[in-house]
Amino acid sequence: MTAETSRAARPIDCPCGGAAPNQKTSAKPPRYADCCGPFIDGGALPQTALELMRSRYTAYVLGETAWLRATWAPQTCPPDLDVQPSAPDAPRWLGLAVKRHEQTDAAHAVVEFVARYKTGGRASRLHELSRFTRGEDGRWRYVDGDVTDA
Ligand SMILES: [Zn+2]
Repeated sequence: MTAETSRAARPIDCPCGGAAPNQKTSAKPPRYADCCGPFIDGGALPQTALELMRSRYTAYVLGETAWLRATWAPQTCPPDLDVQPSAPDAPRWLGLAVKRHEQTDAAHAVVEFVARYKTGGRASRLHELSRFTRGEDGRWRYVDGDVTDA
């Protein structure tokens, strides 16, 4: 399937909710066009690992496999990566909360988050500490993460 035929409609509010550490849960979500849209659709580059992480969450929601691949370190990116939100067994993502964003040096950062989702009518949470690196090209990329049972 090509990117054109699989492209999902774009939401008004950004699925990531603009999640950030210490963000109030009542915060009004930013518009997609002002948040992850410029990264996923517009060729803009996330300046922080937090922006990148949010855009990757949104890409999972929208099924933007190309953006997930482009933002995944080549060493750890699954070769068969293919996100299909419309598949019967695909998780339905419900929301993102970011607990921590820490840039440890110029090229390394961690983001701890909780993503809520439903599969087969059952609600679950993905609690992950993700590691990111910034390449010599200035781009942040997801490397891997530790999943905690939440
Ligand atoms: Zn967003």
